[in-house]
Amino acid sequence: MATSLLETFLTRARQSPERPILDFEQQRFTAGQLAGHVAAFASALQRRGLKPGERVALFLENSPAFVISYLGTQYAGGVVVLVNTQYRQVELGHILSDAGARACVTGAAGAAELAPLKAQLPALEWLVTEESPGGPLSAPVPWPAVDFDALLAEGNPTAALPLPGGEQLAVLGYTSGTTGRSKGAMLLHRNLLANVRAVTEAWRWTEKDRLLLTLPLFHTHGLMVGLHGTLYSGGSVDLRRRFAAPEVLSALQEDSSLTMFFGVPTMYGRLVEEARRTGPSPRPRSLRLLVSGSAPLSPQLFHDVEETFGQRILERYGMTETIMNTTNPYEGERRPGTVGMPYPGQEARVVDVRTRQPLPDGETGEIEVRGPHVFAGYWQRPDATAESFDPEGWFRTGDLGLRDRDGYFHITGRARELIISGGFNVYPREVEEVLATHPGVAEVAVLGLPDSDFGEQVVAVVVPRSPAPEAQALTDFCKDSLASFKKPRRVVFVEALPRNALGKVQKHLLRERLQTQAP
Ligand code: ATP
Ligand code: MG
Repeated sequence: MATSLLETFLTRARQSPERPILDFEQQRFTAGQLAGHVAAFASALQRRGLKPGERVALFLENSPAFVISYLGTQYAGGVVVLVNTQYRQVELGHILSDAGARACVTGAAGAAELAPLKAQLPALEWLVTEESPGGPLSAPVPWPAVDFDALLAEGNPTAALPLPGGEQLAVLGYTSGTTGRSKGAMLLHRNLLANVRAVTEAWRWTEKDRLLLTLPLFHTHGLMVGLHGTLYSGGSVDLRRRFAAPEVLSALQEDSSLTMFFGVPTMYGRLVEEARRTGPSPRPRSLRLLVSGSAPLSPQLFHDVEETFGQRILERYGMTETIMNTTNPYEGERRPGTVGMPYPGQEARVVDVRTRQPLPDGETGEIEVRGPHVFAGYWQRPDATAESFDPEGWFRTGDLGLRDRDGYFHITGRARELIISGGFNVYPREVEEVLATHPGVAEVAVLGLPDSDFGEQVVAVVVPRSPAPEAQALTDFCKDSLASFKKPRRVVFVEALPRNALGKVQKHLLRERLQTQAP
């Protein structure tokens, strides 16, 4: 039995080398070609002195080079460090120095971004630079740099290297930094394998599937669901550099080979808008599976997608530390506003935030998960690791939610974002959902700010639609459907909410901004 996803991929590629596996722009790779590049990359890294357990950072956009470097680093016994391509100096300096990356694979723009960080990154010894799309390096960089293709040419495409063991570290996945500074989650080969088995089983993913993948590969959703599932099932992937609604919509209308699409709610929102803009025909074909995750999918959007695409989205819940936790059923009822049940072989429960005792169905507390998918701890953060696990191995997700009587989990927000005002618990998402139904509100984020009287006060940050509503009207609107202690004490109008690459609202940035602003 395989001990890593890498091993499964290499074995399958040996068995059917001619099978198409990856399409990207004008390029097509068979499984055999991809495996050859992976072996070449791995053997070249080893020749250049990479030792097992050493870290290689990928600061790259979606491309075949990403896939090859990802698998090649693991085949060389190295640990992949995933870096969001939108990150700039501050985040890059934090992640690359925290991880102690010895090499970094990047493009010309990435290399230029890294250059000023030389003094901060003593462990970083060399770069691998990929030419497209930024072209060759335009300015000298303060590290030796080898071109990606030249590195492949140094290696041996038929090299048979030792395979990593299940307990070996495969990836340092940095969390999105939605609630603070991002932490490196240590994912072992066995975590990756256990989770991809669970996901492919739950979603009936087979070698007949072809996935349209426009999510970034530097993040769990694109990489550990999209790419991993493809490699494990033996299916194929049409990989795009990035998401663009018109392109995705036309692929969905025209490409009859596609069977699956995965997205974050923002993407589905844009697709619905685009479909409405371009008119009813041709209607997008029904795929076998549309999946949403990474952020809450509103029931409204669930229904809009169903109307536009004739299909019920399957919503699932996951995180960097544990990959996928729960999923709506493939065959049973997919319930809007819920994230379904634990994957096969995994557990989830809801506990009281203070006593840590399991709660009955229907009561809100913190979601905890346990199983072979749960990571080995935060990189060099024994404090954060200790705080996150209980003695029986349950991992505290930091998400609030409940399980309903039928076993479906609902996420109601983040534990850290729970507002305690005058001793009462206020779940921001509940208030957000009410405000979102007001015709004058385009987008809304609710958070708690310190208050001398109440401990914390409820603040609503609103992106208005025109005509803009009065703050008082919004407060009154909340009073009609919620307990009075939940209504916002303050409404702030902004042009846009700060969101990260996955479309998540970065409330800590809003909080910082509001705290430095007089009410
Ligand atoms: P950080 O941990 O650094 O604050 P983050 O938690 O946003 O950032 P990720 O690991 O990328 O980093 O995201 C995982 C989180 O995304 C989950 O803990 C959960 O809050 C949210 N999430 C994922 N899927 C869903 C979903 N279907 N519905 C609601 N929230 C979701
Ligand atoms: Mg998190």
